[in-house]
Amino acid sequence: MTPRYLVCFVFLVICISTICLSETTPPLTLEIPAAARPGPNFDVKAATDAWLATIPPDKKARSDSYFEGGYWLQLWDFVVSAAIMLWLLQTRLSARMRDWAAHLTSRKNLQTLLYFVPFLFVTTLLQFPLTVYEGYIREHQYGLSNQTFGSWFRDQAVGLGIGLVLGAIAIMILFAIVRRLGASWWVWGAMASIVLLVIVVLIAPVYIAPLFNTYTKLNDPKIKDPILSMARANGIPASDVYEVDESRQSSRVSANVSGFGKTMRISLNDNLLKRCTPEEIATTMGHEMGHYVLNHIYKSILFFSLVFLAGFAFLNWSLHWSLARWGERWGVTGITDVAVLPLATLLLSIFFFVTTPLGNTWTRTEEYEADIFGLNAARQPDGEAAVDLKLGEYRKLDPGPIEEYLFYDHPSGRTRITAAMRWKKENMNILDEPSARPQPPNASPSSLSPHQP
Ligand SMILES: [Zn+2]
Repeated sequence: MTPRYLVCFVFLVICISTICLSETTPPLTLEIPAAARPGPNFDVKAATDAWLATIPPDKKARSDSYFEGGYWLQLWDFVVSAAIMLWLLQTRLSARMRDWAAHLTSRKNLQTLLYFVPFLFVTTLLQFPLTVYEGYIREHQYGLSNQTFGSWFRDQAVGLGIGLVLGAIAIMILFAIVRRLGASWWVWGAMASIVLLVIVVLIAPVYIAPLFNTYTKLNDPKIKDPILSMARANGIPASDVYEVDESRQSSRVSANVSGFGKTMRISLNDNLLKRCTPEEIATTMGHEMGHYVLNHIYKSILFFSLVFLAGFAFLNWSLHWSLARWGERWGVTGITDVAVLPLATLLLSIFFFVTTPLGNTWTRTEEYEADIFGLNAARQPDGEAAVDLKLGEYRKLDPGPIEEYLFYDHPSGRTRITAAMRWKKENMNILDEPSARPQPPNASPSSLSPHQP
């Protein structure tokens, strides 16, 4: 199964997937804990701890449990997918699907297409119970989704349709390369995959994302104008900001930059607009602009090109190794035989499963860079801390360093708030808001007021 970081990249939701969840509408003003207020004795660790301590223990335990359960789900996704692929090979069902396709047409490209359709439906069907648990039941158990089953199922069906079209195109191109280019196929295969990925990233905001959600231009000048002003100040030629109705799927707050070139757009979801303070919106937008200005999309394409090249080299070697041992038993004649697809899927999923920490570290590093950019652009360290805490609803806030390295595709809450409080300490005397300057000893903490972005 495709790892999370790759899915994240494919749909180019390089995003600050943050969340503002509450049964009641929270007051839309920032409440800064005492130890995080500016003063001569401001301490970065004490301020970070004070922010983290604002989350009640039961809520923290709940999000820890949700996120740690996700570690096991990654393993189960991999195990279930591997078991299905081995089953297709061992029962020779894969070989029979190939024979069926060969019976219908003598054209190799059409055989590949005819094989791929039942392959996708069988594997999707067998994985469906786990998909329902992971994507629907569990999300409701943790109060992260408010979507009805019918609406969720519709999204899955649309996803399957997209997978069918894009998957069929990719598989036909890849098998054509394998059949025509011989021993060097894996280099060309990797390059073709990268080109396909770039095309998907390019068209996703315009042709794929609207199949799931409605995007509308944001018109409210109170929200739009400061965002566009920040964009101009940072050299971003944006003239529109989009609002997306993600409240139809969940109550998570998020914003993202998607596409590139002419399809590049900044989108805010409606949960963010409804549930976060202006400071939080500003810092989130600063973060997204960071992805743009720091060219994260282009750097990620380069990074994933290298990952794909390594993945296809491994695939080439491991396909030959496996087929030499078990090819005859599975009825798979060689790497040009479309019946090899379950084996190729299995081997690539092993590669991506093992390299997950590497991919996570790449995206986590870019996210951290975007955080720092956002702090400098929006100058809202407390808004940043507040929005980071809202991750506490679904991402463990305070993990150990090895845990963060292995499993986190975004920095943890502690890492992000520490960066925000460090920025606040170093900028305390030059912040443009009077309330953020060091207070005279007799100043009342209640005189602090959040400033508008
Ligand atoms: Zn981000």
